[in-house]
Amino acid sequence: MKFDDQCASFPAKKNSNKKEESLFEFLSSENSPSPGNGSNFRKKKPNRLEKLFGKSKSNKSLGSKEIEGRMEYSPSINRSVMSYVPSVYTSQSGNVSEHTSMASLKVLVIGGSAAGLYFTKILEKLCKKRVKITIIEPNTKIFFKSAAFSSVMDYTTSKDLFIPLEKIFHYSHNSIVHSKAVSVTDEYVETEDGKTIYYDVLVVASGSTYPIPCKMEGRDIIQTEAVFNDYFKKTIAAKNAVIIGGGPCGTELALRMLKEKAVENLTIVHDEPMLLNENYPESYRNKIQSKIISQGGNLILSDTAKLSPEKDYGYPIKGRWVSTESGKMFFTDIQFNCTGPIANSDFLKHLDQSKHKIIDSEKGFIRVNRYLQIIGYDKIFAIGDVNNINGIKSIQRAKDQAETVAYTIFTWINKKNEETTISHIQPKTWPIDCNQAYISIKNNEFDEVKIDPKYDSGLLNEAIVKKNAPEIQTRKVDLLKNQYKLMGFVFKGAGSY
Ligand SMILES: Cc1cc2nc3c(=O)[nH]c(=O)nc-3n(C[C@H](O)[C@H](O)[C@H](O)COP(=O)(O)OP(=O)(O)OC[C@H]3O[C@@H](n4cnc5c(N)ncnc54)[C@H](O)[C@@H]3O)c2cc1C
Repeated sequence: MKFDDQCASFPAKKNSNKKEESLFEFLSSENSPSPGNGSNFRKKKPNRLEKLFGKSKSNKSLGSKEIEGRMEYSPSINRSVMSYVPSVYTSQSGNVSEHTSMASLKVLVIGGSAAGLYFTKILEKLCKKRVKITIIEPNTKIFFKSAAFSSVMDYTTSKDLFIPLEKIFHYSHNSIVHSKAVSVTDEYVETEDGKTIYYDVLVVASGSTYPIPCKMEGRDIIQTEAVFNDYFKKTIAAKNAVIIGGGPCGTELALRMLKEKAVENLTIVHDEPMLLNENYPESYRNKIQSKIISQGGNLILSDTAKLSPEKDYGYPIKGRWVSTESGKMFFTDIQFNCTGPIANSDFLKHLDQSKHKIIDSEKGFIRVNRYLQIIGYDKIFAIGDVNNINGIKSIQRAKDQAETVAYTIFTWINKKNEETTISHIQPKTWPIDCNQAYISIKNNEFDEVKIDPKYDSGLLNEAIVKKNAPEIQTRKVDLLKNQYKLMGFVFKGAGSY
């Protein structure tokens, strides 16, 4: 018999009475988990992991309507959710299905790019087979958007921006589901292709979507490469170009275009009095601004361009008139929308938000506390670009946040001897990397009332760490090499990224 979410068959057990007692010895010796019992509603003596995560308040089962037509995800067996038994032991702040209590902790990750992959790697290393990781990621190759503008300048580099995912796991019991999360409850996630995947801990690492060309065209690599080809050819042919938005993306593109002398006239429209934003020191903003002006860039500052409501403003590439709020009007052959990303968080709308507002209304970024838990949800984390922590969103930050959450889960598992639920175990605080981040976390935490005083790990400002002043990077080759390495490949590209 196969366990519902495990690939391997279970070893035969000699003494069934030892089943619960031996869980952690069994796991720490890195064997396959015990098979559990098919009839999951049967009440049994809680084992240590159950004690750790707390016991059920309700043995709520899914209504048949709710589950109709959906499949429970299982890498090895394809069976209807009707045979699935939801969590037996739950608490307000943590639940572990009986399946998991008999095996490893089920950690579900939404999004398999920088944040999700660093998290997976670190967690595998820390917890080994004590966790069962499932990643939900629609793409089979991840798109390295940080170097998207290098492919606008040279489309031949675009083929290197797609990194295969197949070598991501060290342990074969972990798996990836190539689909999109469409709905999240506090017990399970539903995917676009009809799977229902239960979790004990959920990590949302679904990032954000930037305007074209910094996003994939659908899920199609060939089409996305064709878009880069188009941008490359038409940028070279264009005389006038406008970049709308002079934040880090717009500034990076401007620096690249001016260096390559891609067009005769380049204008940047930015809604602040200086290029970039408050995440960068004023001296650096001045420096970059002077550089752009000295290289021939025209700046329209403290003004906003009016974007026509197209699906992808600026694409298909064609000549357009651009008008601004202050009444300026000019014609350009090509327009780049660099107005910033929108978070990929739609799937959270089914979570109960009556007590806490968990999503920033304008752009959909997820509100988290210092532990990177979604406000009001102890066992759901949001890491990387998708959370609403202000400051510069970068791969390094995604990695730091991944590490924080992985250590929290590691600690939860290791506190197995304490008669306690997760709400009594101190999670790890993310080392806050700038003042803007501090302010956003502080605001988020105002809304979150912690019942357990042990959660108070001191003053929030004690968590601030000093980081180097940020700069705009136009050389991405080392980042790209690292991403390939993370995914088990050697980067062999020879272009200028
Ligand atoms: C032009 C540009 C230049 C940049 N330059 C740099 C730089 O020089 N250095 C640097 O460190 N950073 C840079 N960045 C930022 C960096 O790219 C991000 O910080 C990083 O990609 C964040 O990683 P992430 O995993 O949080 O999110 P993402 O990279 O956005 O990945 C999210 C993943 O989640 C998946 N996903 C989305 N929705 C769902 C769903 N519903 N279900 C399942 N999966 C889903 C997506 O397919 C994707 O794979 C740059 C970004 C841009 C746009």
